[in-house]
Amino acid sequence: MSIDHPFTLDEPLTKVFEKRTSNQLAKLGLTTTGDLLRHYPRRYADPGAMSQLSTLVVGEHVTVMAQVVSATVREMRSRGGAMLQAVVSDGTDRLSLTFFAKHPGALRTHESRLKPGRAGLFTGVVSEYRNERQLTHPDYLLPGVDVENEVDALLEVSRLMPIYPATASFASWKIHKCVRQVLDPLHVDDLADPVPADVLGRRNLVPLVQAFRDIHLPESESEWHRGQKRLRYEEAFVLQTALALRRSEAAALEATSRTLVEDGPSILRDFDAALPFTLTTGQREVGDEIAAELAAPHPMQRLLQGEVGSGKTVVALRAMLQVVDAGGQAALLAPTEVLAAQHARTLAALLGDLAAGGMLGGAAHGTRVALVTGSQPAAVKKKNLLDAASGAAGIVVGTHALLSAGVQFAELGLVVVDEQHRFGVEQRDLLRAKARTVPHLLVMTATPIPRTVAMTVFGDLETSTLREIPAGRSGITTYVVPAQKPAWVSRTWAKVREEIDAGRQAYVVCPRITGDDSSEDDATPALDPAALAGTDEDRDNPGGPAASAARSRTPLRAVLEVAAELAALEVFRGVRIGILHGQMPQAEKEAAMAAFTAGEVDLLVSTTVIEVGVDVPRATAMVVLDADRFGLSQLHQLRGRVGRGADAGICFLVSEMADAEPAKTRLTTLASTTDGFELAAADLEMRSEGDVLGAAQSGRSTSLQLLRVVRDTAVIEQAREDAAAVVAVDPTLVTHPVLLAEITGRVTGERAEYLDRS
Ligand code: ADP
Ligand code: MG
Repeated sequence: MSIDHPFTLDEPLTKVFEKRTSNQLAKLGLTTTGDLLRHYPRRYADPGAMSQLSTLVVGEHVTVMAQVVSATVREMRSRGGAMLQAVVSDGTDRLSLTFFAKHPGALRTHESRLKPGRAGLFTGVVSEYRNERQLTHPDYLLPGVDVENEVDALLEVSRLMPIYPATASFASWKIHKCVRQVLDPLHVDDLADPVPADVLGRRNLVPLVQAFRDIHLPESESEWHRGQKRLRYEEAFVLQTALALRRSEAAALEATSRTLVEDGPSILRDFDAALPFTLTTGQREVGDEIAAELAAPHPMQRLLQGEVGSGKTVVALRAMLQVVDAGGQAALLAPTEVLAAQHARTLAALLGDLAAGGMLGGAAHGTRVALVTGSQPAAVKKKNLLDAASGAAGIVVGTHALLSAGVQFAELGLVVVDEQHRFGVEQRDLLRAKARTVPHLLVMTATPIPRTVAMTVFGDLETSTLREIPAGRSGITTYVVPAQKPAWVSRTWAKVREEIDAGRQAYVVCPRITGDDSSEDDATPALDPAALAGTDEDRDNPGGPAASAARSRTPLRAVLEVAAELAALEVFRGVRIGILHGQMPQAEKEAAMAAFTAGEVDLLVSTTVIEVGVDVPRATAMVVLDADRFGLSQLHQLRGRVGRGADAGICFLVSEMADAEPAKTRLTTLASTTDGFELAAADLEMRSEGDVLGAAQSGRSTSLQLLRVVRDTAVIEQAREDAAAVVAVDPTLVTHPVLLAEITGRVTGERAEYLDRS
């Protein structure tokens, strides 16, 4: 079969190879010529340098370069039949190769090919027999011997042998052969390049076909580095162009400009005047940036990240007031009902009289804050929906219930999304659809995101960062407590009691609600923010990658059980204990939170529903049980709930993990610093790339393969710059059809999934 010209990367492999071969390739997820050419070698074997046989692991499928030491055929008296036993070596360690046949004659070909001294690539699953590692019926290739002609043979021996991710039934070199069949006839200009020529020139990168040659058929290490560099850049560039397109599309949209009110009544001005504290420099600067963007006739698209407790709420509220002053409404979306209710209370409290618009005793030009959640009593909800629809409520706070069809706004001008991970682009779009013109957007995240990750995952948003924590916070000290040591645990409870006796409050956080397994069955992986997308209340069960492995250990601590236990402890005699978890009816949840906020409850035993944004300044102590079950940023969020007022916070992470366990390392890392950005970087280092970008990124051949968002900072920054320049000149990419096709093919689809999480 042959390759048609002009050559394209979406040619089905069924048209290129015979059925047997294309089926094997399909098993590897390779269905087009592009898939095949982008199936990059995992490493390269140098025919002059042997693999280290000592590192082989029993049960793994391996491909090794080794030298034949001996090969002998013998008949097996006992079992009948014949056996060829060969031994190969890397110079130090040995590996046996075993072949069986009915007659010795059937093994002669192997015997004559496996001549002592010859080097070969051997592939198979490693097994162990009488304390020796062996490959049974390995597939093998002898460079310099197994080639069609002598010229090839000479070339072959000097070349690095690419080792591909392969299957047991389709060896690495068979893949290589397929790649060559597609690649060899290609000329440098047979493939249209998604990266524009001037960009290649500026960044000193080779054209696409050359890069494929470099990576699949390198003559030297520097060649495959050259190819890799170019292909890695391309991954960053295609992604950044997609993001630049989104930014440019948004910038081209029209939005209603919401200018600051200079003279005349202004809620914002009154609010600022009544604020009991001075804004931090960061809050001012970011505030000015946002104010300017709200005044522009194009939609703001901004991500506000800030350390836990850095005061993002005030920044968001001031933006909302600017919009309300200018005749618009603002919607604040929160990830949970607890948080939505709290936001509504906080906003109303911060606004004071200003939130009693239209009511007796309210400021004349005030507005109203309406809360809309799924489980509100019908009458309350109806009233609030009316206020949203009539415009009487300038600020509407809610969970994703705000997205439902029944919710209408008179003049929606700004959407604020708190804790972005749980709202996708579709959800944003649903809200937008409720506005006459595209509303401005402010996304807030309390999980600090390293710069390149922000540029990759949230690259369609402009980013502002609040690094400073308002003065007057006493900070927080974190301790890791071994659960196996009763004396340590008792001291922890005694310390909590001291805090309560001093008039302060405490949280005890458990991974589960009840003692039986049922409260854990819809476990959401705590380490993967993506997995939380779209969930509302049931963030109770951290689960996480450790979940199944952890089954055998002591059962996880559960809210109801722990609350009962603590109540029975002498040390907590007379202490008022409350509970809070996601499966309580909404009214009970609100009552529990309100009682704690009002100081009627001293100790709140809860699940991670309190993780995000709950703000009770008098709470100073937190004990997290089974702390190893939570992710690093999640624990950072959790402990951010204490030490928010003038009194110092104290956090105990109780875990039965041994010191050497990675989960325990997470805890000690957390105890060592309170800098969220440092923690976010440490967290990323401990995770795989797949976790960073979400499940869509794991495995598939068309995903990001070479680019590592944590490591390849410079590449991502360059690609972002180049992409912005390309899109600035040609916002619809009419002059770059190949790049556009690449974006729709590669980014729309699986990548869109993680982009859409922003
Ligand atoms: P986060 O950024 O974690 O959402 P919040 O907005 O909840 O933080 O703010 C935490 C606390 O700090 C709140 O009680 C808030 O009123 C208070 N706060 C915000 N800004 C300041 C400031 N400039 N000075 C003093 N306290 C502030
Ligand atoms: Mg907050």
